[in-house]
Amino acid sequence: MVIAGPCSAESEEQVMETARGLAAFGIHVLRAGVWKPRTHPGCFEGAGIPALKWLQRVKKELGMKVATEVASAGHVYACLKYGIDMVWIGARTTANPFLVQEIADALEDTDIPVLVKNPVNPDLDLWIGALERLNRAGVTKLGVIHRGFSTSQKIAYRNDPIWKIAIELRTRYPSLPFFADPSHMGGSREYLQEISQWALDLGLEGLMVESHCDPSCALSDAKQQLTPPELKQMLESLVVRDSDTDNDAYRSGIDALRSRIDVIDEGLLATLASRLEISRKIGTYKKEHNIAIIQASRWDSILEKMIAEGAALGLSREFVTAVFTAIHEESVRVQNDILANDTPVQ
Ligand code: PEP
Ligand code: MN
Repeated sequence: MVIAGPCSAESEEQVMETARGLAAFGIHVLRAGVWKPRTHPGCFEGAGIPALKWLQRVKKELGMKVATEVASAGHVYACLKYGIDMVWIGARTTANPFLVQEIADALEDTDIPVLVKNPVNPDLDLWIGALERLNRAGVTKLGVIHRGFSTSQKIAYRNDPIWKIAIELRTRYPSLPFFADPSHMGGSREYLQEISQWALDLGLEGLMVESHCDPSCALSDAKQQLTPPELKQMLESLVVRDSDTDNDAYRSGIDALRSRIDVIDEGLLATLASRLEISRKIGTYKKEHNIAIIQASRWDSILEKMIAEGAALGLSREFVTAVFTAIHEESVRVQNDILANDTPVQ
């Protein structure tokens, strides 16, 4: 499912022209920001209530569903009044529990679908907390939009995808409709295709993509918007994969590979357990000789050696570092327990 439309509803003509271009190739849901959260004051902050009337016209003339961002109870009441079909909560708002609660209270006893974007900061609990607030207010048609996280790191994308957070949410709530927003994640047209393909490969249900009839003149997010024909082309280039299949040849192939993985995982667990057993022995030995647990130089040399050996086996530096840091932390924790809990060695 694709939700598309301009970052901001700027004028009646711009909204109608964009919506016509999208409806022409089967997009059924138009997005358009009516109230825009901007970093600097004085930028275009949305057309407000008049724009809701333009969205009404899209509904009436083109039969599309329309969606916009809400950031306060007042926005919710206005959307309900003007028959907006779906609302989303933006990243800056999801990060604020007071506002999310206010929006949830305003949505009580309505059955309008609500999509919750991830908060700007990579905090899964804050994202889940927003969903809980809406759920408690009786909002049942809930979904999420992954738009990436702010980062101080210099990266090519505007926001860091940190897919593992999205995967964790997906795993915890497998039936929650899950959208990706490649526009805000990428921040530039050139990344939209690769991010959208990633989202589909992960099995997400849909995309929310920004599309403007004339992106170069857009009043917000000009660099990341596609014209409707460009969006059509981008979507046609994506490979949609099946979530699963009953095909017998595929099933027996995947079952064989999965049983090999299961055997390897059991081996990994057994290896980790024996490594930890040795760590305990080392802990006792250090205690007997009154030696501190951490010898930084020893740890640095183990890690460097493992990174080099890992590279020769095709394992990335990041992966080897993450795995061995976790192993080392557990080792230190176990040795700490030994030093803290036992009576002094005689
Ligand atoms: C938007 O969808 O135009 C928007 C402001 O997005 P986000 O909340 O993800 O920054
Ligand atoms: Mn935008």
